[in-house]
Amino acid sequence: MSVQSPDRPAIGSADAPPAVPIYRALLPDADALLPYLRIIDANRHYANRGELVRRLETRLRERIAAPGCAVLTAASGTAALQAAILAQTGRADPARPFALIAGYTFVATAMAAEACGYIPVFVDIDPATWAIDPAALRQHDRLARTGIVLAVAPYGRPHDQQAWADFATSTGVPVVIDAAASFEALMQNPATLTGTVPVVLSFHATKAFATGEGGAVIWSDIEGLKRCARAMNFGFLYSRESRAAGFNGKMSEYHAAIGLAALDGWDATAAASARLAARYRAIAMRAGLGDRLILAPEIASNYALFRADSRSVALASCACLETEAIEHRFWYGPGLHREPYFAAHRPAALPVTEACAAALLGIPVFPDIDEPAIERIIAALARTAP
Ligand SMILES: *Cc1c(COP(=O)(O)O)cnc(C)c1O
Repeated sequence: MSVQSPDRPAIGSADAPPAVPIYRALLPDADALLPYLRIIDANRHYANRGELVRRLETRLRERIAAPGCAVLTAASGTAALQAAILAQTGRADPARPFALIAGYTFVATAMAAEACGYIPVFVDIDPATWAIDPAALRQHDRLARTGIVLAVAPYGRPHDQQAWADFATSTGVPVVIDAAASFEALMQNPATLTGTVPVVLSFHATKAFATGEGGAVIWSDIEGLKRCARAMNFGFLYSRESRAAGFNGKMSEYHAAIGLAALDGWDATAAASARLAARYRAIAMRAGLGDRLILAPEIASNYALFRADSRSVALASCACLETEAIEHRFWYGPGLHREPYFAAHRPAALPVTEACAAALLGIPVFPDIDEPAIERIIAALARTAP
């Protein structure tokens, strides 16, 4: 599935079509970073919540948080997830050893729970939202021994903050929402997507808003955010006494510089990605694939998904893309419960997760993908779609 697979003409050889990568990140360039790097030079404050981290948090709060919520940055989305879990309920204990986790997500969600001592229990998703249905989860047979629920906003699709808040209130089981790719959804609708349930973002290079590595927690519980900050700083808060489980999860000033430069250019970035998605959609419609392609704003702009009818159509599409040297990816693998590492827990079958995982094929989209590449991708898919 990789563009480097040996059974394909060498990339760049005269008669082979140029390879199209699944993603090619484009972060702020050196000129855009320079004013911020000068601030770092002047401050000589490189880590531990310097001026740039604090400025980034303030500017993010103005754009992606509901009134009353605050933003705390992190070294990665995974670090932000771990911090939010520790802030919500601390490490696992024998009475509540389980974390209920959506089966359809990136492995980081379950890795974060495991790092906090929880045993992941994977939960099937709703076919319409590709996410756990909070109403159905109330009946889960492990709920009484569950320490934390990790809900996921797959591909940055908007989540239901209110429904998860109601779930947490009525069951007493705390929730963290892994909305790693949801920066754009939050920009559109901060008031309904953030609130009493902590929302975690990733700013990894492959996400629409990126700092290279980075992440954040957005939450209305300011004391809770302090516990997140404590978790990400070795259990220290306002003193050198370690008072809770922790690790090093802090964002550096250099990463904050990238975030500030990315925010400076955000309106232009957003306009360009909206134009790109519209163009992609138009090309797909012309090929009769309009209803097969899922693009921004339905999902985050760093993803384009081809919805196949079935596993066999998806595999035929993979083969066609493969011969065209077009990289493609099942972003969430076969479902987390089927990853070899987690399969060792002998998890239950998750039929909806498995069906989504097999039918939703990631295809290339990135800021400077050109139109001939999009035409080739759609032509290859049109050959396999019934
Ligand atoms: C990207 C992503 C993560 C991981 O974020 P990192 O910043 O790479 O740690 C977690 N969950 C989901 C759903 C993601 O898409």
